[in-house]
Amino acid sequence: MPLVMEGRDDREKVAATKVDIGTDINFGNLARVLFNHLSSLPNVHLHLLHEVRDLEKQEDGTWELKIKNLQDDEKFFVKADFVFIGAGGGALPLLDKSDIEEARGYGGFPVSGQWLVCNNESVVAEHNVKVYGKASVGAPPMSVPHLDTRLIDGKKALLFGPFAGFTTKFLKNGSYFDLPLSIELDNIIPMLSAGWNNLALTRYLIQQATLSHADRVEALREYYPHAEAEDWELAIAGQRVQVIKKDEAEGGVLEFGTEIIHAADGSLAALLGASPGASTSVAIMLEILEKCFAKKMQSSVWQKRLKKMIPFYGKAFKGNEKRWLELRKYNNSVLHLND
Ligand SMILES: Cc1cc2nc3c(=O)[nH]c(=O)nc-3n(C[C@H](O)[C@H](O)[C@H](O)COP(=O)(O)OP(=O)(O)OC[C@H]3O[C@@H](n4cnc5c(N)ncnc54)[C@H](O)[C@@H]3O)c2cc1C
Repeated sequence: MPLVMEGRDDREKVAATKVDIGTDINFGNLARVLFNHLSSLPNVHLHLLHEVRDLEKQEDGTWELKIKNLQDDEKFFVKADFVFIGAGGGALPLLDKSDIEEARGYGGFPVSGQWLVCNNESVVAEHNVKVYGKASVGAPPMSVPHLDTRLIDGKKALLFGPFAGFTTKFLKNGSYFDLPLSIELDNIIPMLSAGWNNLALTRYLIQQATLSHADRVEALREYYPHAEAEDWELAIAGQRVQVIKKDEAEGGVLEFGTEIIHAADGSLAALLGASPGASTSVAIMLEILEKCFAKKMQSSVWQKRLKKMIPFYGKAFKGNEKRWLELRKYNNSVLHLND
């Protein structure tokens, strides 16, 4: 990690852990591969540029979803036995519309992610590693800074961040009314309490939102002492909606992880939280299957199928180094990682 080490005082102590088999995955591409496969199956229909506007539980126990085709404004209804709400920042408003008992008291707080992106190719060429630090004191856990090489469609890029930004939008292309419209009678106390109990986070967000380019480059210099301001520019990455939920003792708490909410009858599940996707998505889907399809999960047909998809499914790893190494070897061979 020459960019990180050059220009430091020789007496400065540095500790680092190195993993040689690290890699990154283009999740956009992965999603395309998965959906291309699914779309080739006879009973799967993919509707892009369609928006779910409303959903309502019917007397026969099914759900009726009101859909709008965003290309021609046509509206139509779809009936479903099971609904999964995986809509990123759009999940909380949809969950609210479902009116299920389990959704009461939930709120969301949007935080946007920004990165410094390096536009000097000779600097990009020098760095071939992902260097992760630790979140600064008082900063939330999702703010762990990293100087990160990324390979996107074969092109190498160098990013530093994330820096937090504040907006009231729940989705990157959402509306400024998303946050105010999400406040309701059942979540106003949890939301106010969470704000009051997290003044350090509020301070952190205000401080982050008011950073200048020079301030951000100064933060970068902790990692890359010779960084030049003109080599870097700011890019907006996306939105995270932190979960706020009711809490007996505190009134309301702000969560930094993900939260699966499911209807008692297993007919609906929603995924809320700051980082629900990508690296944690498989574990989340398994949990949803266990919660909403408990009986089928016990059946030998589903168990056999799951073990085929996830050979180490259900096996305990704690304290079992041999099994860990076997799993790593298996994953590396699937992902063609050369260790
Ligand atoms: C700065 C940043 C860095 C991150 N880094 C990482 C990382 O290193 N590793 C990692 O694992 N994760 C990371 N994440 C998190 C990861 O990107 C998200 O967790 C993941 O994209 C969430 O996937 P999702 O499908 O649940 O939601 P999204 O990707 O937000 O997709 C939701 C989709 O639903 C659509 N939608 C919303 N409302 C409706 C509606 N009513 N009807 C129809 N469609 C609707 C939206 O338009 C959107 O296309 C990061 C996130 C950010 C912001």
